[in-house]
Amino acid sequence: MTRTVDLVIANIGWLITIDADRRVIRDAAVAVEHGKIVAVGKSVEIERQYSAQQSVDGRRTVATPGFIDCHLHSSFQLSRGLADEANAQSFLFDRMYPYEAALEGDDVRISATLAAAELLKHGVTCFIDPGNYHPEASVEGIMTTGIRAIVSRSSFDLTKSVLGILPERMIESTAVAIERAEAVLARYAKSGNPRLGASASFRGLNNASDELILGLDKLARKYGTLLQTHACFSYSTHDSSVARTGKAEIERLEALGVIDERMLIVHSGWLEPEEVAILARRKPSLVCAPSSSLHNGYGNFLFGKLPELLALGVNVAIGSDHASSGIVDMPQEVRLACCCYKETRINPRVMPPETGLEMATRNGAKAALLGDRVGAIEVGKEADIVLFDTERPEWQPLINPVSNLVYSATGDSVRDVFVAGEQVVANGRLTKIDEDKLYAEIPVAVARFGKHLKFEEMVQLRWPVS
Ligand SMILES: [Zn+2]
Repeated sequence: MTRTVDLVIANIGWLITIDADRRVIRDAAVAVEHGKIVAVGKSVEIERQYSAQQSVDGRRTVATPGFIDCHLHSSFQLSRGLADEANAQSFLFDRMYPYEAALEGDDVRISATLAAAELLKHGVTCFIDPGNYHPEASVEGIMTTGIRAIVSRSSFDLTKSVLGILPERMIESTAVAIERAEAVLARYAKSGNPRLGASASFRGLNNASDELILGLDKLARKYGTLLQTHACFSYSTHDSSVARTGKAEIERLEALGVIDERMLIVHSGWLEPEEVAILARRKPSLVCAPSSSLHNGYGNFLFGKLPELLALGVNVAIGSDHASSGIVDMPQEVRLACCCYKETRINPRVMPPETGLEMATRNGAKAALLGDRVGAIEVGKEADIVLFDTERPEWQPLINPVSNLVYSATGDSVRDVFVAGEQVVANGRLTKIDEDKLYAEIPVAVARFGKHLKFEEMVQLRWPVS
């Protein structure tokens, strides 16, 4: 007598569960009912016990939990090619802030839809957005795709820092910034949509007053959400903080009393010894953003302490940050996180591929405060599952699937993706939106916001275009 459930994915070549015991199961199956995993095990046993409304054949695939990208600016997806070869100061003040200030709500909607599309197609089922000035437009785009997201309204309340002057459109008074951040939390933190959440976010320390940081911390506590920020991502942000406040960035957050396990600190690549000690003591979640540091040469791998912080019990996740620095592809980010530390430490053991995959799944779920719901393929968790097509050269020979996944594959070999048991990618195509229609909207948006930007100063193509 079999029990009928909504979905069974059977005959999976290799199932990498990343469960509490880190089981890897060959010839595996997963049964799903009402969006949750009800059984995981050998295919012959699961198929004997369950029949399904939807059956998916996992032959010649490797399955993993859906990846969790803990830092992705969905409004930056239309900035590819506009921010190359710039140091931290120029990247922010000459490229990205003018780009951001030029966006209207509809541009943000299209950008966010494209971001969610690229994430899903590369196996990411949940992401954290540090926010922008049109969060409602982001939500409108993101939610059409089926992905999970934690959105924010990000804020600045100081026009000037040692690094530069912000566009006028991005500056608000402290009170207005807090009021608008609360409006987003009130609308989305408990929206009733299980795929949508909200967080409090200040974009960085150098353009945020103590009052703003404390006000957002209070909101995060009131709504039971994350408090997120960028910190210590380059020597210049570190140096700017010391010059203005006399404190390094983590020291300043510690003095304000806001660091604890609900805080998400992105980058943490430039740390003084005392800051390492603070992070080890307070245990916020940290986000390694490999392609972002590599694209702009921030030195986060040369000087970063994330392997040590992991060993000290600090939760470290991964973020692809933005399309401005190229890839939005979690398998590639995992490879960079592992390999760049090996290279800079001259030590092949410093960041094993299993650690990289934990950062992209379980650790990401914990960082998102969703550790009881997603991040592993185990009974009781929501069914966020990715199937990689192994009938491809980079997956051959398939002797150790963790090795193939981290060192050889990219997100391009993702075949199918499920979020809460719903198939949102099938054979590499999104199921819920018309991709061709989305691609047709992009040049229209670029032409619209491009009118406000000097592309000739932003684009670095050194060869003549005719
Ligand atoms: Zn960022």
